[in-house]
This record gives sequence, structure tokens and C-alpha cells, in this order.
Amino acid sequence: MNDKQIEKLASMLDPSLWKNPLGAIKTLLQHQGKIFDPRKLSHVILRGGTELTKDDKKKAGINPNAKTGSAALSCFTDDGLKDCVDLAFELALAIATIDESLDKQQRWKRQNVKRLIFAPAPDCCDSCKKLEKEYPVDKAPIPVLDTHLGCRCSYTMGANCFD
Ligand SMILES: [Zn+2]
Repeated sequence: MNDKQIEKLASMLDPSLWKNPLGAIKTLLQHQGKIFDPRKLSHVILRGGTELTKDDKKKAGINPNAKTGSAALSCFTDDGLKDCVDLAFELALAIATIDESLDKQQRWKRQNVKRLIFAPAPDCCDSCKKLEKEYPVDKAPIPVLDTHLGCRCSYTMGANCFD
């Protein structure tokens, strides 16, 4: 992701839930090359620092059995803290989805693929369904960045994509 794309993703995060969206994204990006599973990547935000006590978690509205470290306090507002497990996973998943799509664009371009098909996820929303068609490889809408958080759409190749 380039700086512009990182800023765009940051602007999609709810500022009433995230204390420092840009910082959270950059932290995850630093680890992304080493951790490929979004669930594990989200642990970078959730489990950093020292483990919160059960009392701290109860006060913040976090499930007392969730493994949550003090780093979460710097990422989430009081409102965001209670949903931090879901929010961190949503962000890690968004980064993985964007990265996979950008990677496909670059890889296919090197292989002389001219066009790709935006492939909506089976249970996608109506606005993503409308995007299902062929695009020049580097003009295709990028899942999440050009759609919405939680988007799990991807790209596929058609029979005529090399023409
Ligand atoms: Zn979608």
C-alpha cells in the first residue's frame, strides 16, 4: 500500500472507536510480511504490552477472558475498547484483502494480463455486486479501499483477459 492508500484506509476507520487509525495501520503493516494470518496479525494490536487484569477488562467492557494487552489502550477510545477484538480483526483482514488485490494486479500485469474481473464475494453487498465486470488491470476497483470495510471481494481472470 502506498501512503495515499494508507491514509484512505485510515479515513475509513471510525474516529469515535479508533484513537490513532494511521498509527494502528502502520503498526500492522510493519508486521504483515511476517504474519500472514489476519487473526494473528490482529494480535499485534490486541496483545502488545502487558496483559490487562480481569478487573481492567471488566471496567472497559472487554470479555475478561480475552487476551488483551495494554497496547490496546493506546489504539482504541473507551467506546472502541469494548469491541477491540472485532475491530482489530476487521482492520487486519482489510489490510490482507487490499494487499492480496494489489499483489494480483502487479503480478498479472507482469504476466501481460490486460484485464481482470472484479469478483464479488458470494455474500457481498449490492454495491459490490454492481462492480462485477472486466476492468483494465490497474483500473479495477480495489476491494475495501474502493468499496467498504469488511469487503471480501477479489479478482479473477477471464478467458479474454490477455487480449
Ligand atoms: Zn465487496
